[in-house]
Amino acid sequence: MTDYYQILGVERDAIAGTRKAFKELVDGTLRVQIDIEPRNKAQFHKLFPEIDMPIAIAPLKTGQPETKGSWPGDILHTEGKAADQAVELLGSFGDEARQLRQSSFFRRPEVWAAIGTDAEFQEWCRHQKCIVCGDGDWLDGELYNQAAHVRRVSEGAGTSIKPAYSTVSLCTTDHILEQHQHGETAAYRKYLTMKLGNERQVTLQEAKDWFDRRRIEAVQQWAWETLKAELGCESWKQVYPPDLLKWAEAHKVAATASGGLTMPRRYYDTYPERPARIES
Ligand SMILES: [Zn+2]
Ligand SMILES: [Zn+2]
Repeated sequence: MTDYYQILGVERDAIAGTRKAFKELVDGTLRVQIDIEPRNKAQFHKLFPEIDMPIAIAPLKTGQPETKGSWPGDILHTEGKAADQAVELLGSFGDEARQLRQSSFFRRPEVWAAIGTDAEFQEWCRHQKCIVCGDGDWLDGELYNQAAHVRRVSEGAGTSIKPAYSTVSLCTTDHILEQHQHGETAAYRKYLTMKLGNERQVTLQEAKDWFDRRRIEAVQQWAWETLKAELGCESWKQVYPPDLLKWAEAHKVAATASGGLTMPRRYYDTYPERPARIES
């Protein structure tokens, strides 16, 4: 991750973190835990190379660029390329977006249902590249593939079930291949052969696991793209975190049934107010 303080030529002698739990030792001393984000790791080791070093702590006001994304107008007066880079970095919510992408938010069925229907997801699948050959059937410059169900045999019953949001994109040829007996194995072997250039034997379980992973990737990607568009942004970096929180609350997916958080912590934080000029 780029360090915007470095770009601006600002020397930092403090580091931001989050105050966590503390305990009181027998002599009354407070032993406090502080979380330092991975991106500040190097700076931490630079400032505190040794144990037992003296330290001072102070609360950080919310909305400081060190802890949150913020708006271009909020940053210091710099000129030229450095300023452009800083504006780009500070004016976006790249860190939040990265955390959101890595979180389990877009793997939650209740979030999928809030974003769109199974039919809409299947329609999206039809315009994605085939997961086996990476291409598909083109018509007038548009990709037309098939939304193929990742078939599963329900526990014990022995019947094939087709749960919602469980399709992947396959071209006609590969869908036919996949529907034959041991079709999943054949399809996965074809994918590996095309990708690695040599024939490899795979087990049915490996093939099923691969289809399962591709199916989760597909629905996650659809949810990611669709919600971003619904929030009116071209990139997740532009999504003002309180807008996502508002959406999640309105669709009752901001918390789990037991009250846990569904999104990364930062999406529940307070952010600097959106300047009037970029208000939508
Ligand atoms: Zn294909
Ligand atoms: Zn099918």
